[in-house]
Amino acid sequence: MKKILNNIYKNKIFLAFICSMLVMVILLCVYYFIFRPKITLVGEDIIYITINDQYLEPGVKAHNLIKDLTNKVKKIGEVNPNKLGTYLLTYKVSSNLLNTKVRRTVKVIDNIKPEIKFKEDIDFIVCPNKEYEELGYEAIDNVDGDITNKVNIIKEEDKVIYTVKDNSNNETSVIRNLIKDNQKPTITLKGNKTVSLAIGGKYYESGYTASDNCDGDITKDVKVTNNINNKKTGTYYVTYSVSDSSGNTTEITRTVKIISPLIPKGSTIYLTFDDGPSNITPKILDILKEENVKATFFVINTSSTYNYLLKRIVDEGHTIGLHGYTHNYSKTYASVNAYFNDLELIRNKVLNLTGVDSKIIRFPGGSSNNVSKFNPGIMTTLAKEVTNRGYHYFDWNVGSSDTVSSCSSSCIYNNVVKGLTSYHTLVVLMHDFSGNTRTLNALRDIIRYGKNNGYKFDRITMDTPQIKHKINN
Ligand SMILES: [Zn+2]
Repeated sequence: MKKILNNIYKNKIFLAFICSMLVMVILLCVYYFIFRPKITLVGEDIIYITINDQYLEPGVKAHNLIKDLTNKVKKIGEVNPNKLGTYLLTYKVSSNLLNTKVRRTVKVIDNIKPEIKFKEDIDFIVCPNKEYEELGYEAIDNVDGDITNKVNIIKEEDKVIYTVKDNSNNETSVIRNLIKDNQKPTITLKGNKTVSLAIGGKYYESGYTASDNCDGDITKDVKVTNNINNKKTGTYYVTYSVSDSSGNTTEITRTVKIISPLIPKGSTIYLTFDDGPSNITPKILDILKEENVKATFFVINTSSTYNYLLKRIVDEGHTIGLHGYTHNYSKTYASVNAYFNDLELIRNKVLNLTGVDSKIIRFPGGSSNNVSKFNPGIMTTLAKEVTNRGYHYFDWNVGSSDTVSSCSSSCIYNNVVKGLTSYHTLVVLMHDFSGNTRTLNALRDIIRYGKNNGYKFDRITMDTPQIKHKINN
């Protein structure tokens, strides 16, 4: 009996021990359950970013059953977005003697293709019988830098393919097209695009040039045809056509108008050039010589560099007229004496350099000028006085407007041609002052127009009928 009681007692102690242990375990479980921290990644657990982009940390969330622990999380590890690689980030949190951690992987990768740039135009125009020439290229990668030497080139019949890969295997491919020459040649006309001729007049070709991107100067290949019937008024065309060696053809036209003549029979054109000599004068003289036309130069005192031209004017059979030494209106028209002093200076200069004592004059601004009105009546007096002293003064009855800088060569040409209809004696006012290429470029067409339409050309002499304006002062 005693033995039995003893056993029961022992078993109770054991049971109590078991029970207390059980309670301990349950308490620990409850503790763990309540206080164990949990971390959750915000965003992906593997994040890819492109090199040199910014890494934006998406963060984590942490808590246990009773409170938020997010601000207790510690991040271990760093991402260098400027360097390719795999970066491991560890997020840790501790709370009530319990801790936990999670990991995130960040991969900095290069997924940007390299770039291939052409140094010249993308496409290459292939001229006949010419080899393709590489025009140059370069390849640049965001990570590897200049990788031009890694470019692989494949030439096909109609294109060249350039391919390059960077160290991250990003591949770029670009194409240069090889285009059969499709550029038309260019024809440039010399002279006016529209020419007016009187019935029966001869058409003069003023010339042209032709050039091509592949063949260069192909002027000699230009075919010129026209349908001009100079016996009938109307609008006609001169056609200029040229093909390059690739078969590209350009065709342009010049318009020729055959008009009814309004020309008084036997009209003579007196071309006059004022305010020279200058750098333009030799070229004017060349054209006059080539066209075998005589003209008149009303000279002033320009740079002594051009003194030799006074002699050349005379030697080539033209008339040298006196315009004034200074061409300064306020000085020249200040008084009768001032005018004649100025005139004597240019007269003596011409005489000394050429041996010609010219009595043929043109007033600065013409006898009709208004610029002398500061000295009332001076032109009326001078017109009489120059005549008394044996001079013949000449104004003009055909203007060219070549002192108007906006008047182009064709404007000058048209002004003169328009003016060549009303008089027997046609004195054309033009200027050979320095740089006046507009008049220079119109001159040959004006002469040819005159020749085409039956005019004579001559220089002014003391026998030429004086063309005089109405005096305004
Ligand atoms: Zn003048």
